[in-house]
Amino acid sequence: MASGLHFLIIPLMCPGHLIPMVEMAKLIAQHSVTVTIVITPRNAERYGAVLHRAITSGLPVKLLQLRFPASDYGLPDGCECVDDLPTFQLSKNFFDALAALQKPLEDVFNELKPKPCCIISDKHLPWTADVAKKFRIPWVIFDGMSCFTQLATHNLCVSKIHEKLGDSDPFVLPGLPDNISMTKLQLPGLFNPGSSAKAKEMKPAREKVRATELGAYGTLINSFEEMETRYVDEFKKLKQGKVWCIGPFSNSNKNDLDRAQRGSKDSINTHECMNWLDSQQSRSVIYACLGSLTRLTPLQFIELALGLEDSQFPFVLVVKGGSRTTEIEKWLGDTGFESRVKGRGVLIRGWAPQVLILSHRAVGAFLTHCGWNSTIEGVCAGVQMITWPQFADQFFNERLVVQVLGIGVGVGAQRVMDLQDEDDGAMQVKREDVCKAVKMVMDEGKEGEERREKAKYLKQMAEKAIEEGGSSQFNLNLFIEDIRLHTNKGLVG
Ligand code: UDP
Repeated sequence: MASGLHFLIIPLMCPGHLIPMVEMAKLIAQHSVTVTIVITPRNAERYGAVLHRAITSGLPVKLLQLRFPASDYGLPDGCECVDDLPTFQLSKNFFDALAALQKPLEDVFNELKPKPCCIISDKHLPWTADVAKKFRIPWVIFDGMSCFTQLATHNLCVSKIHEKLGDSDPFVLPGLPDNISMTKLQLPGLFNPGSSAKAKEMKPAREKVRATELGAYGTLINSFEEMETRYVDEFKKLKQGKVWCIGPFSNSNKNDLDRAQRGSKDSINTHECMNWLDSQQSRSVIYACLGSLTRLTPLQFIELALGLEDSQFPFVLVVKGGSRTTEIEKWLGDTGFESRVKGRGVLIRGWAPQVLILSHRAVGAFLTHCGWNSTIEGVCAGVQMITWPQFADQFFNERLVVQVLGIGVGVGAQRVMDLQDEDDGAMQVKREDVCKAVKMVMDEGKEGEERREKAKYLKQMAEKAIEEGGSSQFNLNLFIEDIRLHTNKGLVG
């Protein structure tokens, strides 16, 4: 039965943000709340299959399509998602084009029926706070990050400890329940903006996001309480309780079609890859994918590929070269890598059906860049992780996986990669590092066994959290009731 509530969901057009927000929309709609997702035409196409299946199944999900003014902001036509950008040097143009959606959204807001009683927006779109203010409804942020990251970020903003230290000086992250050491070079852009002119260009935007998010009504998190209890508790204290962990979202995809088409309907050689996995022993394969945005330099890609080859384990390697594709392909061809590993290694070029692959019984470990979605998807799959963080919150997530949860081994990355700097050619990780971490993770000895047991336990906890009576289901109900109460008190409109 319809609840009369209507939430407007505004995602950041980037796979690591759009995918979880689409899944969150479906979860909320399952609670009889109407949800409208603001989306642009190309993204509607890309995510359409999953959304339309949800609508056909009777869920109250609607799409509000707004034209994306790509060419007005110097972006190629049809470039509507961050991973479509020909170069990340255009990041600022992309965010400016997104901000231009404010006016068209405000123009149609009053036509939305029933009137939305809350905006759930990606926190990287601070202009959406103005829309919520204009229509006098609460602005709730979706933060595609963990409570660990939230707390670490808050404490760094307050203590500013990193400002007094050299780039490579290790220091203990202040005020966390565990003793976690990092360097400034491993911190996200807010604290470590990068040295290129293009990276610096993003600084004011980052500061605005931070300043605006502090005024949010509340925060929704794609995590579950059992996984990071102490961090959730501390973060809730900071936010007067208005933090709701309602994940893991990826577990809500119950059919293989939704898993296969998650993030793109163009998954290439999905069948081939799944058939090959069927032929492999249980828990024997390494799945290596560094998310939707990372483009390893050819130098680093070669070390990754050779490290996997040297490990002797079967593997799936996802290749995303972007502007470096030609060079990477040339190396793959010239050196005969692909024919050498034939039968033992599968390359996926482009978009991989990650959640489908991770849930296959043959996968034993996930070599990941520790994007938050990938991290939590690895947890849901119950696999151990080999961690190679690249940028943003990923070094925080690595620490959570390796030190707090005890389900991973790092390759030894030392500093964030500057996405905006195309010449960032430094070599940080060598093939021996990759090979060593893979072998450690796949080790059958006591340490490996302990990690495997912990991963198995977390997978069970993740499943329970979103079941009826689970913590995330409970939190989602609390969140909806909170907004209902707020709306009924006449605080809206
Ligand atoms: N993903 C996928 N196939 C790919 C690359 C990424 O399905 O080839 C999905 C992945 O499952 C995750 C999201 O895209 O849900 C990436 O988000 P994450 O936070 O891990 O990293 P980001 O791409 O934002 O760096």
